[in-house]
Amino acid sequence: EQRLATQASAALKAIARRPDIKGYIEHNPSSYALLQRAAARYVTGEERSQALEVANQLIDYGYAISLEYIGENTLSVAACQQAQQELIGLILEMGQQRVRGRVSFDLSHIGLLVDRELALRHLLELGELSQRYTIELFISMEESAKTESILEIYRQAVAIYPLIGITLQAQLNRTSSDALDMLAKDTRVRIVKGAYEEPDTIALSRSAELDQRYEELFELAVQRGCHISIATHDEALITRLLQYDSKEAASVELELLYGIRPELCVKLREQGYPVRIYLTYGQEWYLYLCHRIAEYPPNLFQALVDIVGG
Ligand code: FAD
Repeated sequence: EQRLATQASAALKAIARRPDIKGYIEHNPSSYALLQRAAARYVTGEERSQALEVANQLIDYGYAISLEYIGENTLSVAACQQAQQELIGLILEMGQQRVRGRVSFDLSHIGLLVDRELALRHLLELGELSQRYTIELFISMEESAKTESILEIYRQAVAIYPLIGITLQAQLNRTSSDALDMLAKDTRVRIVKGAYEEPDTIALSRSAELDQRYEELFELAVQRGCHISIATHDEALITRLLQYDSKEAASVELELLYGIRPELCVKLREQGYPVRIYLTYGQEWYLYLCHRIAEYPPNLFQALVDIVGG
């Protein structure tokens, strides 16, 4: 059953990336509008202003926020530069409006697949700007084929700009030793289970063993005095982690995706835990919607309800 679910999920993500299907949706206004209704649960809108509006509302409710301009695997220099300009605009606007928050992105959105040096240059440029406004930058973790280069670029950049954080995937076998190498006092680390289908020779699938590894990573990050984001919607796991004595950590917070388990966000915040909501925006919402459905199939029914219900 687990294998079937994994295959279905991989198929949905593959379909989402097919340019012919994406093209069909983009050129078919009625299907575009219907899918957009389903995406509205997870994506704040296509424009930066919509994301900032939701961010400000959530801040007023007592949440911290992360913002992502959706995109990945950008293959032309021009498209990488466009993404970079958008991120610069976002940091500037957050800085000028004093929106306290974190900016998250994929290195493959700003150049990793075009030229490693381009991605590093872009990251350093963002690092300098975000330092000026004390805005944290968080690098997302992508497929295992990119892990090594993402970690290398992160290491180079964080040595200059310490407000840069990194996401680690508990599912990858290599992560335990990466964490031993990398985590140090004040490292900013987000721990996730991992969103990508990986061969079982290099990764764990959803299991008690994976949860155990997640806990060990968390424990290590606490011992090393890191700023830790527990980025999962798994309530049982969150409950266990919150029972740890985490005094040695520089800080511990919970980070959840916008639109997923909102009732859990409210509960945690009301219990007094620091909760960060991860907001997304941009024209690539269709890909993001497919990812959220693929990782949790009941969301397909939710999407149908959202489409029919308007
Ligand atoms: P799971 O074991 O998958 O799910 C546990 C429970 O959470 C489920 O039973 C369900 O109740 C609920 N749940 C999980 N997903 C959904 C959903 N889509 N809709 C509704 N309920 C759901 N992954 C990466 O590989 N790289 C990244 O950089 C990255 N960044 C992330 C940043 C943040 C802030 C978060 C929260 C996640 C990020 N992820 C990233 C995704 C992550 O790896 C998981 O794929 C995702 O969080 C789902 O797994 P889970 O930890 O919630 O636990």
